[in-house]
Amino acid sequence: MSLIAITRCSKLHDYEEAVRRAGGDPWVLDLAVDRPADVASRAHGILLTGGGDVDPSLYGEARHPSFAAAEPGRDGHEIELVRRALDADLPVLAICRGIQLLNVACGGTLVQDIATQMPGSLKHERDGSDQPFTLVHEVWLESGSLLETLMRDSLSEADSCQVNSRHHQAIKAAGKNLVTVATAPDGVVEAVEDPSRRFCLAVQWHPENFYRTGEFRALFEAFVKAAEH
Ligand code: MN
Repeated sequence: MSLIAITRCSKLHDYEEAVRRAGGDPWVLDLAVDRPADVASRAHGILLTGGGDVDPSLYGEARHPSFAAAEPGRDGHEIELVRRALDADLPVLAICRGIQLLNVACGGTLVQDIATQMPGSLKHERDGSDQPFTLVHEVWLESGSLLETLMRDSLSEADSCQVNSRHHQAIKAAGKNLVTVATAPDGVVEAVEDPSRRFCLAVQWHPENFYRTGEFRALFEAFVKAAEH
């Protein structure tokens, strides 16, 4: 069975359940105990989860007033982990903060606050009335990408689908080898992948929240399957 390392965050349940239902064995990491080098040598795949903002000093910018830090030590631990995972060509699935973290680890930059830095953008953050799986906006998928191939059966004829959304940051300049494969209608980057890797896919929404109903199960199944080899 594939051992899937999951970076610790405040809402672990749905990530663990999505991995389990895709046939993987979840291993939630402990920042204080699990060294990135050991994780990269033991785990068969790495799942980067949601959480606070990546410190903008890591991509050469000053903090926007909206900056909300992640848990102390998370940025450094996860950047080292993702670099080691990519070096070892371990399958990586990155979600929400995870896509941002992956992008910074690959030398990219972030829009620090969509609402103020991209005037006229759609709603990407959660309202009080939203459930975790409330569909908030459309995404347009790049034809022929890994993401589009995995999602093909559930896409509209225009290669689009609806996603939940709760983020205030997004990718600005994509990191090395990362290709944009989904955007929202306002131009916000919603997914990237690295086609040179065995499996490296990152999405800005939260597919794990749909583990019961399976709208995005194909992403977890392909990730876990890639980790088996
Ligand atoms: Mn969004």
